[in-house]
Amino acid sequence: MKLVYLDNAATTPVDPRVKGAMLPYLEDHFGNPSSVHSAGQAVRHAVEEARGSVAALIGGRADEIYFTSGGTEADNWALKGTAWAKSDKGNHIITTSVEHHAVIEACHYLSKHGFEITLLPVDRYGMVDPEDVSKAVTPKTILISVMHANNEIGTIQPVAEIGKIARERGVLFHVDAVQTAGHLPVNVNSLNADMLSVSGHKLYGPKGTGALYIRKGTRIDSLLSGGSQERGKRPGTENVPGIVGFGKAADIARTEMAAETERLYLLRDRLSSELLDRIPDSQLNGHPAVRLPNNVNISFSYVEGESLVLNLDFEGICASTGSACSSSSLEPSHVLLACGKIAEEAHGSLRFSLGKFTRDSDIDAVIEALPRIVKKLRAMSPLAPRAAAR
Ligand SMILES: *Cc1c(COP(=O)(O)O)cnc(C)c1O
Repeated sequence: MKLVYLDNAATTPVDPRVKGAMLPYLEDHFGNPSSVHSAGQAVRHAVEEARGSVAALIGGRADEIYFTSGGTEADNWALKGTAWAKSDKGNHIITTSVEHHAVIEACHYLSKHGFEITLLPVDRYGMVDPEDVSKAVTPKTILISVMHANNEIGTIQPVAEIGKIARERGVLFHVDAVQTAGHLPVNVNSLNADMLSVSGHKLYGPKGTGALYIRKGTRIDSLLSGGSQERGKRPGTENVPGIVGFGKAADIARTEMAAETERLYLLRDRLSSELLDRIPDSQLNGHPAVRLPNNVNISFSYVEGESLVLNLDFEGICASTGSACSSSSLEPSHVLLACGKIAEEAHGSLRFSLGKFTRDSDIDAVIEALPRIVKKLRAMSPLAPRAAAR
């Protein structure tokens, strides 16, 4: 059975060209980039080239890119590093109720250490109102953190407007761009971002790689203590094969993004309109238009998202109920709840996230299987009214 993989928001497969670029650094080029000898210097060169590639992807400068172990570390660093560095200036942080757990939980941690967190509400499409951001700023505000696009429902936030507000009010601005970098144009200058998080494995690079962009002159504490790697800000011997792969993935994404996005819009819209047409009592989650080109998130009344995922998996189709990080908990999605869904609606949600290896036949497979699965589950559901179980 051929796998139909529609969970690219959780992770993407590694592009074969990325794997090809990485292999030499797992074999012959094993040196430590901090070593002065030639084995070290060959590797140093590759790390710096990758830094340039990641910088080019987000419109920053190479010396503003700091490699991390992924998006989670980048988010934690931006939040906690800024909080500790700026605690003499204030203790207030503004973020939203739909952020990734990496941001939400970092804020939760900071709230236990004397920081005040404002979690901004969103509208029913999961969108933040820049006006609310503006109103929340106080003289004690040291950081505003808003994600570029939501990993569960795909809604794209008005980050450029929010960045403008942050700049005018003299508050640092962090953007979690893990779902957009490599997929949509991202530019740290047009967003007025002082910090921006990226992850390698969401853009066809290897897992355990990522970066935090830190605008030159931004004060931030380190999370780790150690050597002088990453200009002393992020110590620890670099994950060289990972960084090289991440750089290659960034290069590929930059050159192929425009054509790929157009292709995905067509596949995405066909998938969502066919499912909404064929399955009664189904509702698109997230913004109908201002959303990621690869995201389809739909709630199906009277069924559990978990059952849908398991039944699809049985037919070789990989989808998700939302965030990979919360799928082992049975808590309803904090994102859907923030959009005003009641817990039952939030439980019946299913996310398909398409990718560059998604083909028409994958979409066909879902359109064939899901209406049948929903009908079967509704027929067994005590929640479904007779009519819905038809
Ligand atoms: C995946 C994801 C992260 C975490 O990135 P990792 O590299 O998996 O740690 C953070 N934010 C968003 C929006 C994500 O989708």
